Amino acid sequence: MNAYDEFAGGYRPTVSVDLGRLVGNFQRLAARQPDAEAAAVVKCDAYGLGLVPCARALARHGDCRTFFVAHPEEGARLREALRDSVPDAEIFILNGPTRASLPIFDEGRLTPVINSLAQATLWAETRPGAPCAVHADVGIHRLGVPAEELSDVLSLRDLKPTLFMAHLSCAGAPDDPTNEAELKRFRTLAADAGDVRLSLVSTGGALIGEAFGFDLLRLGVGLYGVSPFGAPVPEVKPVATLTAEVLQVQSVPVGGRVGYGGLFEAARPTRLATLAIGYGDGFPRAAPASGGEASVRVVIGGTPCPVVGCVSMDLVTVDITDAPASVAPGDAAEIFGDAAPIEEAAAACGTIGYELLTRLSPRVTRTYAMNGAPAAID
Ligand SMILES: *Cc1c(COP(=O)(O)O)cnc(C)c1O
Repeated sequence: MNAYDEFAGGYRPTVSVDLGRLVGNFQRLAARQPDAEAAAVVKCDAYGLGLVPCARALARHGDCRTFFVAHPEEGARLREALRDSVPDAEIFILNGPTRASLPIFDEGRLTPVINSLAQATLWAETRPGAPCAVHADVGIHRLGVPAEELSDVLSLRDLKPTLFMAHLSCAGAPDDPTNEAELKRFRTLAADAGDVRLSLVSTGGALIGEAFGFDLLRLGVGLYGVSPFGAPVPEVKPVATLTAEVLQVQSVPVGGRVGYGGLFEAARPTRLATLAIGYGDGFPRAAPASGGEASVRVVIGGTPCPVVGCVSMDLVTVDITDAPASVAPGDAAEIFGDAAPIEEAAAACGTIGYELLTRLSPRVTRTYAMNGAPAAID
């Protein structure tokens, strides 16, 4: 619920979330590593698609029992959402604890991921013996305990990790030799971690090979219908369909220019549709404005229509010259979904599917379906 949800029946864009597909992706990805438990990464509001409905669907229909979020506040919200269905769910907080956030860990029964000696010392001193994960850096140099600090962390008497984890730096490129090198490094470091469960991979790594699975998978983007490799994979079916309404249809003659700055100039008599979506909804302003091959294509009446002209806050213009003549205000345009692969839309905007999903703003209406029927979200 947000300020926009008090109104209905306007021109707000919609993202429809197929929770059945979400669960299907979870099950197919988990099946690739049958010896590992599959956990769901539901940080950033389940990659923009809604923490509560996504986590509940995974728990109820996918039997998911372990979750990862980035911030303790996200964990507290998740604990509340799962209170009745999975009261004993394990909720890991990737960013780890701070002194100020310790009460949220207590209240939500959250498990921190320890990323540094400082976090390890804080947790051991203030919550001696309480479960935690230790995140070792195996080469990404982003977050995680550096190899040279690891023995100090693991020798803290009151630190009792139950999970030892790392994160691959190149899992989006399955053939990159870095993956094997980091796998080896993880094995070496894990040998000193004692009797704990092991977790190395996110979606990409789970698809690379069986050696990467260990005890626990941390599945994120694939659950939400985005291939971790940029190109589609059979385990991952689209989950989110973003649509916007046609607000206006018009024709411009040769030489007519479109949008702020006139960045597109019609080379032929051109029909245009203006859609009720813009960068304020999360449609990237960086989308190419010149039309043609480089443009993002939105699908209207079955026809891919290139974006032309600059994306503005509330509006996007597309070239519908090749679409059916019947296209009219009120028609739906699909920005991504089954007809318009999100990986292609992202590539055209110079970004990745992860970003297209997580930047969807509160102004985008979220609707949910389960196996073809509207799903209640609470
Ligand atoms: C976000 C994240 C994941 C999930 O990655 P995907 O590529 O979305 O599957 C797993 N592990 C860590 C540490 C992460 O930060």
